[in-house]
Amino acid sequence: MPLEASVRTAAILRRHGVHVTAQRLAVMRAVSERPHSTADEIDKAVRADLGAVSRQAVYDALTTLTDKGLLRRIRPAGYPARYEDRVGDNHHHLICRTCTRMVDVDCAVGATPCLTAADESGYEVDEAEVIYWGRCPECVSGTSVAPAIESTQPPPPKPSQRTTKKEKDRRV
Ligand SMILES: [Zn+2]
Ligand SMILES: [Zn+2]
Repeated sequence: MPLEASVRTAAILRRHGVHVTAQRLAVMRAVSERPHSTADEIDKAVRADLGAVSRQAVYDALTTLTDKGLLRRIRPAGYPARYEDRVGDNHHHLICRTCTRMVDVDCAVGATPCLTAADESGYEVDEAEVIYWGRCPECVSGTSVAPAIESTQPPPPKPSQRTTKKEKDRRV
């Protein structure tokens, strides 16, 4: 990691009350270079970067950094969780059903209207987790290469059941 970048990342960790370690810095860098990566992919990147690091150390670092709000974990139904360092803006995601490529998409309308659930049932809502499923342009046009990520889990449920919306996303 370039020294300047690691100094900046170290300062961010400290500000969030996270003890700075080489593993955590490497995990932050790996996620920032490969947004929406799985833990496996981050593990590979960190190992290529640092050499001898245990898989458990990488997974522990991911958990700590996510718990402290430095990373965001996205859990697409039927696929391994993915990580990104774009946190705090409640953006959503598009996933291609064919190649599983995931991209960011800003909130559907305006700032964060989806935080206003159609029926809040008295809950104090602070996050709307929305994943749009479909096919990416490359897969639609047939120019996509092999799947980037193999699902290690059973096939995902039917489209009607695989939405991960935590509450209704009101379309205005
Ligand atoms: Zn695709
Ligand atoms: Zn994202």
